[in-house]
Amino acid sequence: MDFHSDYVMTIDGKSAPAEATIEVVNPATGKSFASAPDCSKAQLDAAVASAKAAFKSWRRTPIAERQAMVAKAGDLLIAHAEEMARLFTREQGRPVDAAQQEIAGAGAWMKAVSGMTPPVHVSEDSDTQFIETRYVPLGVICAIAPWNFPVSLAMWKVAPALVAGNTMVLKPSPFTPLCTLKIGEIFRDVFPPGVFNVISGGDDLGPMMTSHPGFAKISFTGSSATGKRVMESASKDLKRVTLELGGNDAAIVLPDVDLDAVAQKIFFGAFFNSAQICVATKRLYVHEDVYDGLRDRLAAIASAVKVGDGAEQGTVLGPIQNKRQYERVMDLLNDAKANDLTLIQGSAIPDNGGYFVPVTIVDNPPENSRVVQEEAFGPILPMLKFSQIDDVIDRANDSEYGLAGAVWSADTDKAVEIARRMETGTVWVNQNLNLRPDTPFGGHKHSGFGVENGMEGLLEYMAPQAVYVARS
Ligand code: NAD
Repeated sequence: MDFHSDYVMTIDGKSAPAEATIEVVNPATGKSFASAPDCSKAQLDAAVASAKAAFKSWRRTPIAERQAMVAKAGDLLIAHAEEMARLFTREQGRPVDAAQQEIAGAGAWMKAVSGMTPPVHVSEDSDTQFIETRYVPLGVICAIAPWNFPVSLAMWKVAPALVAGNTMVLKPSPFTPLCTLKIGEIFRDVFPPGVFNVISGGDDLGPMMTSHPGFAKISFTGSSATGKRVMESASKDLKRVTLELGGNDAAIVLPDVDLDAVAQKIFFGAFFNSAQICVATKRLYVHEDVYDGLRDRLAAIASAVKVGDGAEQGTVLGPIQNKRQYERVMDLLNDAKANDLTLIQGSAIPDNGGYFVPVTIVDNPPENSRVVQEEAFGPILPMLKFSQIDDVIDRANDSEYGLAGAVWSADTDKAVEIARRMETGTVWVNQNLNLRPDTPFGGHKHSGFGVENGMEGLLEYMAPQAVYVARS
C-alpha cells in the first residue's frame, strides 16, 4: 500500500470518491502536503445506510467470529506500523519511533479487546422460571476522534464497538485524517462491507454526524467544550454517549522522593507528545523542601531535549499539532509573560514556520493564573509549591476537570491514601500515563461521561436485555 498518496474514504467496503477536499498540513513546516476527502451530506447518509444494513447480519455473526476479525485487524495494524509511521509523523508531528509505537500499540490493544466477552447474568434458574440478563449491541456507532493520538484513540472505539456487534462510521480529526483513511482501506480485507466506514471532512462534518438520526450512539474523544455540544446534539433523539474529554491533571510530589530517580519520569509525564496528552501532568505541586531541586533537574532535562521535526533523527519532542492549538498555547505563554511570571525555557526551537513552542516551566505562579487554571495542551508546565498535604489536595481538586492525577513519594501507603482523595477517574502512584485495555478509563466532572476500556467500556457499546422464561 502506498501511504503517501491517494487518500480515500471507505463507505460500504469501497472507496468513495472525493467530491471536495480539505488540506492536511505538516505541523513541522506549517505547509500543506496532502489533501483528504471532505465528506458530503449524501456520502454521510450512504455511510450510515451501509452501516445500518450491515448491522442486521453483523449482530447475528457469532461473537467468536467478530472477535477473530478484530484480532486480525489488530495484526494488520501491527504489520503496517513501520510503513505507516512516516505518514503519522508528517500529519501529527510526533517522532517516527514513537509514531510506530502508537500504531503497533493500537494493534496490540485491539487484540487484547478481542479477547473480551460480555457476561450473562442468571438471576433465577428454578422449576418455575429462568431469568437471564444478556447484553445486546446498540446499532450504528458514530465515532469521533481527536488529533493528539489519532490512531490509538480511534482504535479504542473500533475494537469494543465491533466486538459488541455494532457497526461504525469513524471520523478522524480534520488535522490528522490520513492514517485513519489508510486504516479504513486496510480493514476492508477483514470486515464485511458496511461494518466499518471511515469518512473525513472539515469542521462541519462533526455536527452533521452528531445530529444524524441514523446513529444509536456517539463515542467522542476531544475537548470538554466540544463534548458539551455533542451531548446537547445527542439529546434530540436520545443517542447514547460516551465522552472522553479534557483534563488539567495535578501531580503531587512529597518531600521524601528520590529526585534523581523521579525527575525524568515526571518530565516525560508532562511533556511527552509535546504535552498534547489528555492525561499529561498539567499542574505540578511540589513540596517546598524539594521544590528547587526538582525544578533544577527538570530545567536541565528541558535544555538537553531536542525539539524539532519528528522526521529528523534525534528529535524527542515535535511541534504543536496544528495552528489553532499553537495559537492557543502561544496565547497562554504571552499571558504568562505579560503577568511577569518566571519562565524557565529549554532548548532552542526551529524557526521555519513550523508550530514549535519551547519546553517551558513556569516557576511557582499564583494559583489563579491562567497557566494554572486552564488546560494548556502544550509544553507549558506550571510548578507550584506546597507545604501542607490537606491544602495541596484541596488545590489539586479545585478544578472543573477530573481526568487523572499522580502522587510521588517513597512512602507508597501514604501516597495511595492521598491518591484516593483525588477527584479523578485515574490516579497513579510513582508512575504516570499508564493505561490498559482491561481497565476502565474515564473522566470525573467535566472530563467525561462514561468510560472506555475494560469490561465497563465494552458494555457501554451494549444494552442489557432481561429475558424471563416461564417454566410452569
Ligand atoms: P476537539 O474537541 O476540537 O475535536 C475533537 C473532534 O471533534 C474532532 O474530530 C473534531 O473535528 C470534532 N468536532 C469539533 N466540533 C464538533 C462538534 N460541534 N460536533 C461534533 N464533533 C465536533 O478536540 P481536539 O482539539 O481534537 O483534542 C484535544 C482535546 O481532547 C483536549 O482537551 C484533550 O484533553 C482532549 N482529549 C481527551 C482524551 C480523553 O480520553 N479524555 C484523549 C485525548 C484528548
